[in-house]
Parts: sequence; C-alpha cells; structure tokens
Amino acid sequence: MKQSVLWVMVVFCFHWVVVDGVEINEMYQSQQSPVIWHMSRQAPLVALTFDDGPTPEITPKILQVLLEKNVSATFFLVGHMVLRHPMITRQIYNDGHHIANHTWAHYRLDELSKDQIQYQIHATSDVLDSLGIHMSPFFRPPGGRFNQWVLDAIKDQGLTMVMWDVNAGDYVRSSGKNSPQEVIVRRVMRTLQPGSIILLHNSQSTLDALPNLIDSIHDAGYIIGHIE
Ligand SMILES: [Zn+2]
Repeated sequence: MKQSVLWVMVVFCFHWVVVDGVEINEMYQSQQSPVIWHMSRQAPLVALTFDDGPTPEITPKILQVLLEKNVSATFFLVGHMVLRHPMITRQIYNDGHHIANHTWAHYRLDELSKDQIQYQIHATSDVLDSLGIHMSPFFRPPGGRFNQWVLDAIKDQGLTMVMWDVNAGDYVRSSGKNSPQEVIVRRVMRTLQPGSIILLHNSQSTLDALPNLIDSIHDAGYIIGHIE
C-alpha cells in the first residue's frame, strides 16, 4: 500500500517537471505559471540580461566590459541578427555567457497568428543550433508582450519564459534621448533585491552605464551570475 502511494507521488512529480519546463525551481516557480520573474530570494545572486543583440557596434564592447569585470550574463538574441552576425554570437558563447531566445524578428507576438508565433520561436532556436550553440532553455517575448498562444508555444518547445523584476529603463525615451548612466544605475540599485533578474539592452546607454552598474551591484554585496 505504501509502495503504491509512493509510486503515484513519483509519477506526479515527473509529470509536473516535464509539463512545466526544464529549469524549474520550486522556490520561485509556481505550478500554474511557466513564467519566471526572478530567481530564489534566498541567495544574494542576481542576473544581468541583455536583449536585442547581437550587433557589431555594441555587443563586442559589452563583452569586453563583462570580461574585464569577470561577470557572466544571459543574452536574449534576435534570430535574424544571429544569422547576420554568427561570429559575434559565437564570441558571446565562447566567453561563457548564456544565450537565449528573443524571437526571430522581434515582432509583437500578441499581434501574430499561432503559427507565426511558433515560427518566431523555433527559427531562432534552429539558427543557434546550426551554429553549434547550446541555447539555454529560456525565452523572452519582445516588449514583454505575450498571450496564451505564446505560453503554449514555449511549452511545446521546452522553454521557460524569463521576464524581469528590475527594469534598467536603458532604452531611448520618447524625447529621443538616452537615460544618463547615473539614472540607469540609480534605477537598478533602487529596486535590486536577492534573486533579481535585471532587464538591460544591447544599446549605447547600457554600455556607458555597465562598468558603474556592475561595481555598484558588487559593492552592495550581490553576486552576478547566470539565471538558475
Ligand atoms: Zn527586445
């Protein structure tokens, strides 16, 4: 009797892990949602994430700063830009950073059909695979916009959606001006907490702020690492 109860529990746990994705941590991942907003709040680990690359103008310089500061990050790359810049993509990977999926063409997914959504995701996974790059099983929708079709598609493709709980606001504002680096650093440090996932972009303003940002995060006692 006891053995059969145990067996039911094992089957249930296996089913739960398979259904809800690959990198599951019960501390912060609810059974209902395949979306991660932050990591465990129990450890002083935080993660830097860079969206929208790779580009020859910015990405190598971001990599240089990360190298100098001995910091690892996760890059959510756009598939058609990976195809255009395979050497930079390989450099990201060879530097020990994680590469994840940010769709093929950076369209708003909530305006696409079910088939188009599936294509936007698997085409990016496929081009990374063709370069021999082991993609982390993470996906981030452009602009953070998603619907049930997007959730179904990432589940089908074995991915977990990774959002963020700290937004650096490092994009160009409606005025056309970038946020000054002091503003970016202050904005991050004001909301940073253990387990935070920080949203950054492949942009000049991010690059300008990055050395000070990394120093500030370290000075506050955090460890910067990969999403786990
Ligand atoms: Zn983006």
